[in-house]
Amino acid sequence: MTDTVTRFAPSPTGHLHLGHAHSALFGWRAAMDAGGRFLLRIEDIDPNRCRPEFERDLIEDLAWLGLTWERPVRRQSEHLDDHRAELVRLQTMGVVYPCFCTRKDIAAEIARAGHAPHGPDGPLYPGTCRDLPESIRRERMEAGAAYALRLDVAKARAMTGPLRWHDRAKGWQEATPEILGDVVLARKDTPTSYHLGVTVDDHIQGVTLVTRGEDLFFATHLHRLLQALLGYDPPDYHHHGLLRNERGERLAKRDQAKSLRSLREAGHSPAQVRAMAGFSDGV
Ligand code: GLU
Repeated sequence: MTDTVTRFAPSPTGHLHLGHAHSALFGWRAAMDAGGRFLLRIEDIDPNRCRPEFERDLIEDLAWLGLTWERPVRRQSEHLDDHRAELVRLQTMGVVYPCFCTRKDIAAEIARAGHAPHGPDGPLYPGTCRDLPESIRRERMEAGAAYALRLDVAKARAMTGPLRWHDRAKGWQEATPEILGDVVLARKDTPTSYHLGVTVDDHIQGVTLVTRGEDLFFATHLHRLLQALLGYDPPDYHHHGLLRNERGERLAKRDQAKSLRSLREAGHSPAQVRAMAGFSDGV
């Protein structure tokens, strides 16, 4: 039998709040209940938003909360070569193309078309650069233009055929990655993105059960496609409900009052904070 391996994968872009505590405890519990292993992964690929002090603070907050995890902690920024290598494999398969559009170009193209298919995160990329002739691509790259590398989802799907993935709360799901459109997998100077990094690292780290908030449910459709292209066994998934504030909005890093730091400074014990995060029966 395979050991259950779960992980919590925060981005150090702010202080952890109760929603993060819920997610971390959810993954930790799933591993402990199964006699398995729990990992912490730092998703710090965005140097503009991630800060070492947030990483230090989140590690301290999670330990204070009573969580334990395996060492060493994988920090994504130290493994960009792994992501780059998998990106190159996808490029070799012909399912990645350079996109030179700025946000403004995309908005203008959508306005020009008069309508745009929408996905869970808003209008989809209209495909402007998908079929650019190779000569134009090369010319623009040689001229030093900035570009993103996008996945040609239709082409990728044609290669993999139908795919499914399993969610412990919602059952088997038919993968429909086209609902996200041709997502960005990397950029000219960054060989990875959330989608590529998370898929590659979950595979490399042997994660067997991905637990995370239901806000990432749709992303899993795409991750399943990347797994199939790269020849990975898919993990099992459990997308959990999100904690909400008094107004019914999902907690965000700006809800400072609910940060684990502020609750701790206000004198709450780890057990009390675990209970606030939905885990009242002790750790
Ligand atoms: N790093 C992501 C975030 O902080 C979560 C990644 C995941 O659990 O798949 O939102």
